[in-house]
Order: sequence, then structure tokens, then C-alpha cells
Amino acid sequence: MLKHNLGYPRIGIRRELKKACESYWSNQIDFNTLFEVGKKIREDNWKMQNMANLDLIPCNDFSFYDQVLDMSLLLGVIPESYISIPIIHNNIDLYFSMARGLQKDVWDIKAMEMTKWFNTNYHYIVPEFDKNQKFSILSNKLFDESEELKKLLKSTKKIKPVLIGPVSYLFLGKEKDKSFHRMDLIENIVPIYIEIIKKLKKKGINWIQLDEPILGLDLSKKEKKALQYAYKELSKLNYEINILLTSYFDGISENINIFQDIFIKILHIDLIEDPNQLEKILFFIKDSETILSLGLIDGRNIWKNNYTDSINKIEKTIKYIGEDRVMIAPNCSLLHVPIDVTYEHSIHKDIKNRMSFAKQKIYELVDLEKIIKGEKTILSKNISSLKKSMESSIFHDEKVKTRIKQVKECDLKRKNSFYVRQKKQHKKFNLPIFPTTTIGSFPQTKEIRSLRNKFRKNELSKEEYDKKIKKFIVNVIKKQEKINLDVLVHGEFERTDMVEYFSDKLNGILSTENGWVQSYGSRCVKPPIIYGDVSRTGDMTVDWICFAQKKTNKLMKGMLTGPVTILQWSFIRNDQPIFDTAYQIAWAIRDEVTSLEKNGIQIIQIDEPALREGLPLKKKNWKSYFNWSIKAFRISSSGVKDETQIHTHMCYSEFNDIFEHIADLDADVITMETSRSKMELLKAFSEFSYPNEIGPGVYDIHSPRIPTVEEIFNLIEKASKKLPIKNIWVNPDCGLKTRKWEEVLKSLKNMTEAAKMARIKLSN
Ligand code: GLN
Ligand code: ZN
Repeated sequence: MLKHNLGYPRIGIRRELKKACESYWSNQIDFNTLFEVGKKIREDNWKMQNMANLDLIPCNDFSFYDQVLDMSLLLGVIPESYISIPIIHNNIDLYFSMARGLQKDVWDIKAMEMTKWFNTNYHYIVPEFDKNQKFSILSNKLFDESEELKKLLKSTKKIKPVLIGPVSYLFLGKEKDKSFHRMDLIENIVPIYIEIIKKLKKKGINWIQLDEPILGLDLSKKEKKALQYAYKELSKLNYEINILLTSYFDGISENINIFQDIFIKILHIDLIEDPNQLEKILFFIKDSETILSLGLIDGRNIWKNNYTDSINKIEKTIKYIGEDRVMIAPNCSLLHVPIDVTYEHSIHKDIKNRMSFAKQKIYELVDLEKIIKGEKTILSKNISSLKKSMESSIFHDEKVKTRIKQVKECDLKRKNSFYVRQKKQHKKFNLPIFPTTTIGSFPQTKEIRSLRNKFRKNELSKEEYDKKIKKFIVNVIKKQEKINLDVLVHGEFERTDMVEYFSDKLNGILSTENGWVQSYGSRCVKPPIIYGDVSRTGDMTVDWICFAQKKTNKLMKGMLTGPVTILQWSFIRNDQPIFDTAYQIAWAIRDEVTSLEKNGIQIIQIDEPALREGLPLKKKNWKSYFNWSIKAFRISSSGVKDETQIHTHMCYSEFNDIFEHIADLDADVITMETSRSKMELLKAFSEFSYPNEIGPGVYDIHSPRIPTVEEIFNLIEKASKKLPIKNIWVNPDCGLKTRKWEEVLKSLKNMTEAAKMARIKLSN
């Protein structure tokens, strides 16, 4: 029974890679220094895994920016605009300019598109394919890193290079134009994979891991065919090398028949996301010689493994196909968890006792092997320690548990229908048609960030800090009044991050000291850890919002992060169903909403930008997802009277298959991104006849460009043809945090001008 790992975090325990890359980009260090940092991180990772005595150690899991971009360089998939830039001398500069764009001398080339890696919070660089796309080996990174590992281990025996498989790689990319389908490139790409594998074999490598996470999705005919073609071709190499076909993030039982007539030498399955697939997969492979790699350790969460569960799965598999045909591993790459829990010094011991980061997870594999070999004390220790720590009172709050058990139908519904609420709200607010507002945040300048930093380091007292933040609030109110916006915001200057701000204040959630996870390129995040029953300690935003409301005669909008988004961007509990955790957070947010209302705030926005990304990979699981996520939102938003207006905000434009569910949220107003698609999205909303009010974003805040009055007016006009005028709001498509003040002022001025024009020209 071999134990192996699919991939290890590469940012370095002190985020060395981030610092080195950023120094390189700003010309503070040279190319060699950057490479040395990368090399040291790889060595440390490999030494650690070798010390733990893993049977196979991954390489090429390291990346200076992103593993998908690495693949594009390996396969020579370079968009035309980057190929002939004379000032780029080497691959790494080409690589970074594809990732980040290039603005130097006369060159001004945009970065390639970036998007989320399946349903994780990791972002990859989207490959772009030409109709006549040629593939050829371009970069040596893969081969160099295998050499490096060989030198370190003084043997090739344990080396297992990791690549994204050909079908997932094509799937993750996009076509440059609509004249072809990228899956049709499969016959061109597979020969290069074969060439790569043969080259590795020549270097003495005996193992290769091909990641095909798309096996966990609902696949089209074309994709299935591509998989069949690719793995039939690749299986011809079975006598030369051990190819490990790796699936993760969801089960593959629906797709396993693709490989009916193909000999898959080693298959890896994710038993954390889908433990139930084991049975079916075992049945499928039992009469073949396929080796099964069991994904047992959770690479997407930070809790210790339940050894009893894992051992059961291993024993069952052994019984079915024999020990020689079993391998054990984490379910997916450990990229998505922090590196080492021993660097956490302030977490309560009962919680820390249950936690396990990447390094600890490697040792959990070792433990599992020992148990199988007969060291049963390890198992009993695991059982008793998990049991003991679960009993700790820190995880449990009976009041919270009872509260979510007693949810009544009426807790999930506003008192009256939207129709009734709208009348009351319009009468009370007396806003003009096409009312204008913003999404919440205003530019976060250096000044504000350094202020918050000083406060965090205790260099500034709470009073001084509050006073200074209040100055910013007063200032932003004056600016909004001058621009003549109708519904104002306080600017969110007291928040670094929209989830962290709330998780820091809620019971049952903690922040780590050093729990960094790569989000994209050099950007790392520290997801909060939801460990226990969640509740509110007291008001979280009320003071700020009420202060702001007192400074203006206009309506001030309260600003909260919704339960689904808080959940989605955190590590969550694994000892209770996800919906229970969601409902607990929802109640805490509801308490804040009602407290805002009690203190005179009449409009409250509950942001849910992560609602869509939490969508399960397979359609069959959507229903239950929407069931609990919508319920959670409704718990948070339904505690107010008819006259209080609830807004929500989402920042994506892929609504087509989910807008019915968006309507189920029953927010009085939803603001969202539409400007990039030129209001195309509204078609879906009008055909479905979305009942509530909508603020389709009228300009793209992701670009520094200032939209003209005319183009904004045209978008409002377009919206007014598809939606009832009384339902339309005018606003940017997301928060203004990342923009410069001068851009914001001009853009918003044009926006309010355009709204004014619309009131005159479109009012009947
Ligand atoms: N209110 C938040 C802001 O304006 C919303 C951010 C988001 O949609 N991601 O920044
Ligand atoms: Zn947004």
C-alpha cells in the first residue's frame, strides 16, 4: 500500500514566494535571487515529505504564479500578443507578463483572463486557444524540477511529476474566437503529452500524475469522447510508466463508464467530497488490474482526519482488490490549506488539538499506514482525542443550537409580499425614479490602510482610530452629497476585508496568525476558521452606520456581509451539516439587521457575492444547495418590517441558469454586474419577469476608464425597455474600494447626470 501526496503548498511558511515575486516585479531582486527562493521552498517541501517517508513525492507542483499557466508554457500555448515582444528575453518574464500584463516603454499588453479553479477560492490564468493551435514543448520547468528532486533523493524511484491532464487543460481554457470548439484540439495536444512522458521516462522517472478534475463534473458528449481518446492513447504507455489518473472535488461514478474499454493503471478518487462512490468504483475495477488511490485526507479543510472512517475505507478496499492494489493520499492537492499548524500560537488548545494543516496531513497518511500494519494504539488515540476535544464547551452553545432548531416558517418570510412592501417603501422614502446609489466601499487609500495597520499593532488607541475613521466617513458623505447620490453609504473604511471584519466579531469563528493560502499569483488570504456555534457578541456595524446617518439628511444604507459569503470564504466545521452552520451565521446577521433597524436605519444591504461560486459542481446537487443557501439569506433578511428596504449585491454576470433562485431571495433590491455584458443579462430577468427592484451595474468598476454620461444613459434606456421603470436603480457594478478617488468622482458624477437625464427622457 503506497502512500503519496498530490501537491504541496508552495508559498513558503513565511510567504517567501510572495515577497520574492513582488520584489522581482519591482526590480528589487534579480532573476537568480528569485529562482533561489523558489528552489529553497521546493527543497524544504520535498525534504519534509521524504522525512515522513512518503512512497511517492510530487514535483512540478511548485509554481511561481499558477499551475495552469505553467501548463501553457510547457505546451507552448502563448497568445499571439505575447509572442513577439522584443523586450521579453526569457520565459519567466514572458510568464509573468501573461499573468499580470506588461506596461513598459511603449508596450501596453493586458493580462490574460483569470478565473476560479472549480469551486475553490484559487484563481488560475485561463489558457487561450487559436483555431489552429499548435502545441510543442516550450518550457523546461517540469524537467528541471524532476532533475532537482532526483539530485536531492539520489534516486528517481519516488519521483512523481504532476501535470494537469489534457482534457481538463483544454476544458479550463477558452477559444479565441467562436469558429471552433477547444475540445477538438484533443488530437493535437495528446501527442505532446506522450512526448513529455517519454522524455520523463528517459530521465528515469517511473510515475506521472495527470490531474483530470473535470471527471467530477457533468460532462458533455464531446468531453467524454475527448477523455476516451486521450486515455486510450496514453494507456499505450502503460508498459513504460505508471500513469496515475487523478480526480478530485467530486465523485466520478457517473462518468466512470467512459473508461469501460480502457486500461487505467492507477485511478485516484476523492472520498472526502463523495465517500459513496467507493462502492461503485470498486465494482467497476474489481476484475481489472487497476490500482485504486483513495483520497482520504481532506485537502480543503483544516480538521484532523477521522482515522476510524479512513481505516474503514482502506480495509474495505483491501478486502475487495487486495493490498497491492491500494494506495492512500489526500483527496486533492494540499494547495488549499495552510502549511503548518505549529506556527499558530494563540489558538485555544481544544481547537488546535483538532486542527491539521498541510504538514500534519502528510503525517496523518503515515499514521494510517501504521494502523493498517497493526499499530492499533494510534487508532485508539485518535478516537479518544477527537472525542475528548469535541466535548470541550468551546465548540458548543446550546442557546444557538436550540434557536436554529426552532426556526418557524414565519422566520423565513417578510411580513408581506414585495408588492405591499414596495408601496410602503416608496411612500416613505419618496426617492426619484431611477434612484442612484453605490455598492458600499469607497477608495481604500494608503492613508486608510496604514491607519488600520497602526491600530492593529496597538500604535493607535481605539479613540484615536475611531476619530480618524469618522473623519473619512464625514468626508465621503460630503462627496456623495455633492455628487447628488440618492442613497448614501459610509464607505467601509473600517474594514480590510468584508468577511474578516465580521468573522473577527462573531463567536465561534477565529482568525489564524499564519494560516495563509494562495488565492492567485502572489496574493494570499487567511480564511477564518468556523469552529463552533456562531453568534453575535453585540453590535458589529451599528455605531458606524448610525454615526454616518446622523451626518446626512439623505438615506444611509447599512452594509453587511451575508451568511453564505461568510461561510464560503472560511474553513467550515465538519462535525455538523453545512446548513446548520449557515443558519447560525444567518441568525447572527439577522440580529445585526434588526439592531440597525431599531437604531433608525431604513435601508440595509446584505452582500452575497459568493452565492454563485458555492454552487456544487454537479447539477444534481444544486437543488439542495439553493435550498439551504436561500433559506440562510432569508433568515438573515426577514426580521424587519415592511418599510425597511433590504438590498443585496452579487458581482457576477452568469445568472442565466439561476435567476429564479435569485428571485427566491426576495430582497427588495438587488444590485449586480451587467455593464460588461451591456445589459444582455437583463433579457433573462425580463423574460422571467423578475418581480423585485434591480440595480443593473451601469459601469465597470474593474477598469480605470471613466464612462461617459451618454453611454450610461444608453444602458439605463436599455434597461428601461426590459424592466418596469419603477423597479430600476442606477449604480456601479461593484464596490469602489480598488479605484482611485479621481476616477470615482468623475464616474459617479456622470452616473448621476445620466440618471437625471433618464428621469426627464424616460419617465413615461
Ligand atoms: N459592499 C462590498 C463593497 O462595496 C461588496 C464587495 C463585493 O461585492 N465583493 O466592497
Ligand atoms: Zn461586487
